[in-house]
Amino acid sequence: MLEYNRCIITVSHSSCSYNEATEEAAGENMAYTIRRIRAREILASGAYPTVEASVELSSGAVGCASVPYGASAGSREASVLVDNGKRYGGKGARRAVRNIEQKIAPAIIKKPYSGQQELDAALQALDPTPQKTKLGGNSILAVSIAFARAAATQDSQPLYRYLRHALRTHGARGMGAPQRHSVPGPMMVVIEGGRHADQSTDFQEYLICPLSRKKYTERLRIGIEVYHAVKAVLRSRGLSTNVGTEGAFAPSGIRSNEAPLKIIMEAIERAGYVPGKDVGIALDPAASEFFKNGSYVLSCEGKTLSAAHMIRRYKRLAQTYPIISIEDGLAEDDWEGWQKMYQVLGNDILVVGDDLTVSQKQYLERAVALDCVNAILIKPNQAGTVSETLATIAFAIRSEIATIVSHRGGGDTNDTCIMDLAVAAGSLFTKVGPSRGERVEKYNRMLRIAEELGA
Ligand code: PGA
Ligand code: ZN
Repeated sequence: MLEYNRCIITVSHSSCSYNEATEEAAGENMAYTIRRIRAREILASGAYPTVEASVELSSGAVGCASVPYGASAGSREASVLVDNGKRYGGKGARRAVRNIEQKIAPAIIKKPYSGQQELDAALQALDPTPQKTKLGGNSILAVSIAFARAAATQDSQPLYRYLRHALRTHGARGMGAPQRHSVPGPMMVVIEGGRHADQSTDFQEYLICPLSRKKYTERLRIGIEVYHAVKAVLRSRGLSTNVGTEGAFAPSGIRSNEAPLKIIMEAIERAGYVPGKDVGIALDPAASEFFKNGSYVLSCEGKTLSAAHMIRRYKRLAQTYPIISIEDGLAEDDWEGWQKMYQVLGNDILVVGDDLTVSQKQYLERAVALDCVNAILIKPNQAGTVSETLATIAFAIRSEIATIVSHRGGGDTNDTCIMDLAVAAGSLFTKVGPSRGERVEKYNRMLRIAEELGA
C-alpha cells in the first residue's frame, strides 16, 4: 500500500516539462490594477451567511469568489469574522462585507500589483494579527481569491494555470505546467459523524479513494458507485440514509467507530470492486473534537482511551481494513502523541494533519521537524490568503509531504477554486463530499479541468 502511495506522491510532485516556457511567459504579463471591489453577504450550505467578493481590474477582467467555514475548525485557523448581532443568530457577514468595502478596498485599489504574492502581502499588512482577527480571515480570503480569478482572466488562462505559476514564485521550483494526463483523484466522504451529524460515530469522516489510474471520469464514477452502494448497505441494515453536512450518509444509532468500516467494505464489494485494490479507505476522526482532559472520549462506545491506546487501535484498523490515510487521528495539541502515531503508522499509510497544521507553513514546519506527518490537508480559509496557502504547499512539496486539498464541512459554497488549487499543487487527492450542490459543483469543475488536460 505504501508503495502505491509513495509512487503516487512522486508522480504528483514530479516536474513535467511540457509547456514550461509558455508558463513562464504567462506570469510575465502586465501588472494587475484593481479598479473596483464589491462585497456581499450570501448564504453558504450550512444555511448561515458567508461573504462573497468581486474584484474588477482596470483591464476589465472580473473575478468573483466566496469562502466557506468549518464545523470542526482548528483553534489555530484564520478567523471567520461574524456580526455577533441579532441577525442569523449572530452569524451574519455584514461586518466582513463592510471590512472589504470600507477598509480593504480603499487601501488596495488603483495600485499596480505584479502578481498574487504582492497583492496578498498588501492584504496581510492590513491585518498582521496571527489569526486575521482585525479584518477577518473570511474578508481577506474572499478578496484574495477574487483577485486570483480576475488576474487569471486578464492573462486569458485557467485558474489552475495561474495558481501553478504563483506557486512557483514560492520556491516550488521544478514545477512545470499542470500535469497533462494527471489530476488529483477523489477522496470522497461517504459516512460522516462527529460534529457533522447527530447521534452518529465519534469519528467525523469515513472516506473512499478509488485507486485506479484510469481517467478522472472513471475514478469519480467508481467513487460515486460505492457511495450509492453504501446507501444500499445502510438500508439493508435498517439504518438511516439521511445525509450530513458534507453530503455523506450520517446514520444515527451506530454503536462503534469501527462499524462504518464494515459497511464500506461490504459496499465496495457490492459495487463490484475489490477493497484495497480498486478502492482504499481513509479516516478523519477529527480527534480534537473528542479530546477531553488529556484523553480521547469515544461516547458512542462508552470508552475513554489514551493516545497510546488510540494509536494501537488505528494500527489494528489499518491491519484489518485497506486504510490508506488517517487524518487528525489525535488532537491538535497532542504533538507527542502525533510523534508516536507517526512512528507506528507513517511507513504504511498517510498520516495527515488538518487541525494540527491548519494549512499554515509555520505549523507544517513544526510537524515536519517533529516527524508527525507525511501529508497535509489544505483548506485556503485556514491560511487566510491564496499566497499563504501556496507557501504551505510549496514547503510541503520541498519536504515531500503529500497535499490533499479539501472542502469545508460547516458551510461551503459553489466556489470551486479548491479544485484548481489541487491541480496547481499536484495534490494527491481532493477531499470533497459526494452529494449536495456545493460539493457536486466541485467535482464538475474537476471533470472540466480533466477534459482540458486529457486526464
Ligand atoms: P470542517 O471539518 O467541518 O471543520 O470543515 C472537515 C475536516 O475536519 O476535514
Ligand atoms: Zn479534518
